[in-house]
Amino acid sequence: MQDSFQNLRFVLVNTSQPGNIGGAARAIKNMGFSDLVLVQPEIFPSDRARWRAAGAGDVLKQARVVDSFADAIADCQLVIGTSARERRIPWPLVNPRLCADQVAAEAGDHKIALVFGREDSGLTNEELQRCNLHVHIPTNPDYSSLNLCAAVQVLAYEVRMSLLASTGELKEVEQEWDEPPATSEELENFIQHLEQSMIESGFLDPETPRQTMTRMRRMFSRIRPDQSEVAILRGLLSSFGKKK
Ligand code: SAH
Repeated sequence: MQDSFQNLRFVLVNTSQPGNIGGAARAIKNMGFSDLVLVQPEIFPSDRARWRAAGAGDVLKQARVVDSFADAIADCQLVIGTSARERRIPWPLVNPRLCADQVAAEAGDHKIALVFGREDSGLTNEELQRCNLHVHIPTNPDYSSLNLCAAVQVLAYEVRMSLLASTGELKEVEQEWDEPPATSEELENFIQHLEQSMIESGFLDPETPRQTMTRMRRMFSRIRPDQSEVAILRGLLSSFGKKK
Protein backbone atom coordinates (compact mmCIF):
# COMPACT_ATOMS: atom_id res chain seq x y z
CA MET A 1 0.00 0.00 0.00
CA GLN A 2 2.76 2.40 0.95
CA ASP A 3 4.41 1.62 -2.41
CA SER A 4 1.28 2.78 -4.19
CA PHE A 5 1.55 6.16 -2.48
CA GLN A 6 5.25 6.38 -3.30
CA ASN A 7 4.74 5.43 -6.93
CA LEU A 8 2.64 8.45 -7.76
CA ARG A 9 4.68 11.50 -8.75
CA PHE A 10 3.32 15.01 -8.99
CA VAL A 11 5.02 17.03 -11.72
CA LEU A 12 4.62 20.82 -11.89
CA VAL A 13 5.76 22.36 -15.16
CA ASN A 14 7.29 25.88 -15.25
CA THR A 15 5.41 27.07 -12.20
CA SER A 16 5.67 30.86 -11.96
CA GLN A 17 4.26 31.44 -8.45
CA PRO A 18 6.44 29.92 -5.74
CA GLY A 19 3.45 30.02 -3.41
CA ASN A 20 1.77 27.47 -5.64
CA ILE A 21 4.72 25.11 -5.29
CA GLY A 22 4.41 25.29 -1.50
CA GLY A 23 0.63 24.89 -1.66
CA ALA A 24 1.00 21.86 -3.91
CA ALA A 25 3.55 20.30 -1.53
CA ARG A 26 1.08 20.70 1.30
CA ALA A 27 -1.80 19.20 -0.70
CA ILE A 28 0.40 16.27 -1.70
CA LYS A 29 1.54 15.54 1.85
CA ASN A 30 -1.97 15.93 3.26
CA MET A 31 -3.08 13.14 0.95
CA GLY A 32 -0.16 10.86 1.86
CA PHE A 33 2.05 11.38 -1.21
CA SER A 34 5.58 12.75 -1.28
CA ASP A 35 7.14 12.64 -4.76
CA LEU A 36 7.21 16.17 -6.18
CA VAL A 37 9.17 17.05 -9.31
CA LEU A 38 9.50 20.60 -10.58
CA VAL A 39 10.28 21.27 -14.22
CA GLN A 40 12.15 24.59 -14.48
CA PRO A 41 10.25 26.48 -11.80
CA GLU A 42 10.64 30.25 -12.22
CA ILE A 43 11.58 30.83 -8.58
CA PHE A 44 12.75 27.99 -6.36
CA PRO A 45 13.58 27.59 -3.56
CA SER A 46 11.80 30.50 -1.94
CA ASP A 47 10.46 31.68 1.39
CA ARG A 48 7.01 31.99 -0.08
CA ALA A 49 6.97 28.32 -1.08
CA ARG A 50 8.23 27.31 2.37
CA TRP A 51 5.57 29.44 4.03
CA ARG A 52 2.76 28.00 1.93
CA ALA A 53 4.00 24.45 2.44
CA ALA A 54 3.51 24.84 6.22
CA GLY A 55 4.14 21.39 7.71
CA ALA A 56 5.03 19.91 4.31
CA GLY A 57 8.53 21.42 4.29
CA ASP A 58 9.99 17.91 3.96
CA VAL A 59 8.15 17.31 0.66
CA LEU A 60 9.41 20.67 -0.58
CA LYS A 61 12.97 19.91 0.51
CA GLN A 62 12.96 16.56 -1.24
CA ALA A 63 11.40 18.02 -4.41
CA ARG A 64 13.56 17.33 -7.43
CA VAL A 65 14.16 20.15 -9.90
CA VAL A 66 14.70 19.00 -13.50
CA ASP A 67 15.47 20.77 -16.77
CA SER A 68 12.85 19.19 -18.97
CA PHE A 69 9.43 17.63 -19.03
CA ALA A 70 11.05 14.51 -20.52
CA ASP A 71 13.37 14.19 -17.51
CA ALA A 72 10.46 14.47 -15.10
CA ILE A 73 8.55 11.56 -16.64
CA ALA A 74 11.42 9.45 -18.02
CA ASP A 75 10.96 6.51 -15.64
CA CYS A 76 7.14 6.62 -15.55
CA GLN A 77 5.00 3.91 -17.11
CA LEU A 78 1.77 5.88 -17.02
CA VAL A 79 1.74 9.64 -17.58
CA ILE A 80 -1.42 11.60 -16.97
CA GLY A 81 -1.72 15.22 -18.07
CA THR A 82 -4.19 17.63 -16.53
CA SER A 83 -6.11 20.11 -18.58
CA ALA A 84 -8.43 22.95 -17.67
CA ARG A 85 -10.09 22.92 -21.10
CA GLU A 86 -10.76 20.89 -24.22
CA ARG A 87 -7.85 20.64 -26.62
CA ARG A 88 -7.91 20.58 -30.39
CA ILE A 89 -6.59 17.05 -30.83
CA PRO A 90 -8.78 14.59 -28.95
CA TRP A 91 -6.91 12.32 -26.56
CA PRO A 92 -8.14 9.67 -24.13
CA LEU A 93 -9.80 11.84 -21.51
CA VAL A 94 -11.11 10.72 -18.12
CA ASN A 95 -12.78 12.37 -15.19
CA PRO A 96 -10.90 12.59 -11.87
CA ARG A 97 -12.65 9.56 -10.39
CA LEU A 98 -11.87 7.24 -13.28
CA CYS A 99 -8.35 8.63 -13.36
CA ALA A 100 -7.97 7.87 -9.67
CA ASP A 101 -9.29 4.32 -10.11
CA GLN A 102 -6.76 3.69 -12.85
CA VAL A 103 -3.95 5.14 -10.75
CA ALA A 104 -5.01 3.00 -7.78
CA ALA A 105 -5.15 -0.11 -9.96
CA GLU A 106 -1.63 0.43 -11.35
CA ALA A 107 0.29 2.22 -8.62
CA GLY A 108 1.25 -0.98 -6.85
CA ASP A 109 3.50 -2.00 -9.78
CA HIS A 110 3.96 1.04 -11.99
CA LYS A 111 5.51 4.44 -11.64
CA ILE A 112 2.90 7.07 -12.49
CA ALA A 113 3.15 10.81 -13.14
CA LEU A 114 0.36 13.33 -12.75
CA VAL A 115 1.44 16.44 -14.64
CA PHE A 116 0.25 19.99 -13.96
CA GLY A 117 0.74 22.98 -16.24
CA ARG A 118 1.68 26.63 -16.05
CA GLU A 119 -0.61 29.00 -14.16
CA ASP A 120 -1.19 31.17 -17.24
CA SER A 121 -1.15 28.73 -20.15
CA GLY A 122 -1.38 25.18 -18.80
CA LEU A 123 0.50 22.39 -20.60
CA THR A 124 1.53 22.80 -24.23
CA ASN A 125 0.02 20.53 -26.87
CA GLU A 126 3.42 18.90 -27.23
CA GLU A 127 3.52 18.10 -23.51
CA LEU A 128 -0.06 16.85 -23.51
CA GLN A 129 0.80 14.57 -26.42
CA ARG A 130 3.48 12.91 -24.31
CA CYS A 131 0.80 11.79 -21.86
CA ASN A 132 -1.06 8.47 -22.05
CA LEU A 133 -4.19 9.99 -20.64
CA HIS A 134 -5.69 13.38 -19.94
CA VAL A 135 -7.80 14.28 -16.96
CA HIS A 136 -10.14 17.23 -16.67
CA ILE A 137 -11.81 18.27 -13.44
CA PRO A 138 -15.40 19.02 -14.51
CA THR A 139 -15.52 22.68 -13.57
CA ASN A 140 -17.93 25.42 -14.67
CA PRO A 141 -17.42 25.62 -18.47
CA ASP A 142 -17.63 29.41 -18.29
CA TYR A 143 -14.83 29.53 -15.71
CA SER A 144 -12.99 26.27 -15.91
CA SER A 145 -9.51 26.99 -14.70
CA LEU A 146 -8.73 26.08 -11.10
CA ASN A 147 -5.84 27.48 -9.15
CA LEU A 148 -2.91 25.11 -9.59
CA CYS A 149 -2.84 23.97 -5.93
CA ALA A 150 -6.59 23.43 -5.95
CA ALA A 151 -6.24 21.15 -9.00
CA VAL A 152 -3.43 19.25 -7.28
CA GLN A 153 -5.60 18.92 -4.16
CA VAL A 154 -8.65 17.60 -6.01
CA LEU A 155 -6.71 14.95 -7.91
CA ALA A 156 -4.57 13.92 -4.93
CA TYR A 157 -7.76 13.53 -2.89
CA GLU A 158 -9.47 11.41 -5.54
CA VAL A 159 -6.45 9.12 -5.81
CA ARG A 160 -6.29 8.79 -2.03
CA MET A 161 -9.97 7.85 -1.90
CA SER A 162 -9.47 5.20 -4.59
CA LEU A 163 -6.35 3.81 -2.92
CA LEU A 164 -8.06 3.58 0.46
CA ALA A 165 -11.16 2.01 -1.11
CA SER A 166 -9.02 -0.56 -2.92
CA THR A 167 -7.55 -1.84 0.33
CA GLY A 168 -10.75 -1.66 2.34
CA GLU A 169 -9.30 1.12 4.50
CA LEU A 170 -11.95 3.61 3.51
CA LYS A 171 -14.35 3.72 6.41
CA GLU A 172 -18.01 4.20 5.70
CA VAL A 173 -19.51 6.73 8.08
CA GLU A 174 -18.83 5.13 11.39
CA GLN A 175 -21.17 6.36 14.03
CA GLU A 176 -20.64 5.17 17.53
CA TRP A 177 -23.76 5.49 19.62
CA ASP A 178 -24.01 5.43 23.40
CA GLU A 179 -27.39 3.65 23.63
CA PRO A 180 -28.83 0.67 21.74
CA PRO A 181 -31.72 1.38 19.37
CA ALA A 182 -35.19 0.78 20.78
CA THR A 183 -36.70 -2.60 19.97
CA SER A 184 -39.90 -2.99 18.01
CA GLU A 185 -41.76 -3.83 21.22
CA GLU A 186 -40.42 -0.79 23.09
CA LEU A 187 -41.43 1.48 20.24
CA GLU A 188 -44.86 -0.13 20.03
CA ASN A 189 -45.42 0.30 23.78
CA PHE A 190 -44.43 3.92 23.47
CA ILE A 191 -46.81 4.52 20.55
CA GLN A 192 -49.65 2.95 22.55
CA HIS A 193 -48.74 5.13 25.52
CA LEU A 194 -48.67 8.21 23.27
CA GLU A 195 -52.03 7.40 21.76
CA GLN A 196 -53.53 6.83 25.20
CA SER A 197 -52.17 10.16 26.47
CA MET A 198 -53.47 11.98 23.41
CA ILE A 199 -56.93 10.55 23.96
CA GLU A 200 -56.89 11.33 27.69
CA SER A 201 -55.86 14.91 27.09
CA GLY A 202 -58.66 15.33 24.57
CA PHE A 203 -56.25 16.00 21.72
CA LEU A 204 -57.23 12.83 19.85
CA ASP A 205 -60.81 11.79 19.35
CA PRO A 206 -60.85 7.96 19.11
CA GLU A 207 -64.05 8.20 17.07
CA THR A 208 -62.36 10.28 14.35
CA PRO A 209 -58.63 9.50 14.66
CA ARG A 210 -57.81 10.34 10.99
CA GLN A 211 -54.16 9.69 10.10
CA THR A 212 -52.72 11.18 13.29
CA MET A 213 -51.35 7.97 14.77
CA THR A 214 -50.10 6.75 11.39
CA ARG A 215 -48.16 9.98 11.03
CA MET A 216 -46.77 9.71 14.58
CA ARG A 217 -45.79 6.09 13.94
CA ARG A 218 -44.13 7.08 10.67
CA MET A 219 -42.20 9.87 12.36
CA PHE A 220 -40.85 7.65 15.15
CA SER A 221 -40.01 4.84 12.71
CA ARG A 222 -38.04 7.34 10.65
CA ILE A 223 -36.17 8.67 13.66
CA ARG A 224 -35.42 5.23 15.11
CA PRO A 225 -35.08 6.52 18.68
CA ASP A 226 -32.73 4.74 21.04
CA GLN A 227 -33.81 3.05 24.28
CA SER A 228 -33.03 5.99 26.52
CA GLU A 229 -34.92 8.39 24.24
CA VAL A 230 -37.98 6.15 24.35
CA ALA A 231 -37.66 5.93 28.15
CA ILE A 232 -37.52 9.75 28.39
CA LEU A 233 -40.57 10.14 26.16
CA ARG A 234 -42.52 7.60 28.20
CA GLY A 235 -41.50 9.32 31.44
CA LEU A 236 -42.63 12.62 29.96
CA LEU A 237 -46.03 11.19 29.00
CA SER A 238 -46.45 9.70 32.51
CA SER A 239 -45.56 13.04 34.12
CA PHE A 240 -48.40 14.80 32.27
CA GLY A 241 -50.92 12.68 34.18
CA LYS A 242 -49.44 13.52 37.57
CA LYS A 243 -50.58 16.57 39.47
CA LYS A 244 -48.17 18.33 41.76
N1 SAH B 1 -5.17 29.00 -18.75
C1 SAH B 1 -4.69 27.70 -18.50
C2 SAH B 1 -5.07 27.29 -17.12
C3 SAH B 1 -3.98 26.76 -16.37
S1 SAH B 1 -4.43 26.43 -14.73
C4 SAH B 1 -5.31 26.74 -19.49
O1 SAH B 1 -6.30 27.08 -20.06
O2 SAH B 1 -4.82 25.64 -19.66
C5 SAH B 1 -2.96 25.68 -14.17
C6 SAH B 1 -3.00 24.18 -14.11
O3 SAH B 1 -3.94 23.75 -13.13
C7 SAH B 1 -3.41 23.47 -15.38
O4 SAH B 1 -2.36 23.34 -16.31
C8 SAH B 1 -3.82 22.13 -14.82
O5 SAH B 1 -2.66 21.41 -14.51
C9 SAH B 1 -4.52 22.52 -13.53
N2 SAH B 1 -5.97 22.72 -13.70
C10 SAH B 1 -6.65 23.86 -13.54
N3 SAH B 1 -7.96 23.66 -13.76
C11 SAH B 1 -8.12 22.36 -14.08
C12 SAH B 1 -9.22 21.54 -14.41
N4 SAH B 1 -10.46 22.01 -14.47
N5 SAH B 1 -9.01 20.23 -14.66
C13 SAH B 1 -7.74 19.71 -14.59
N6 SAH B 1 -6.66 20.45 -14.29
C14 SAH B 1 -6.84 21.74 -14.03
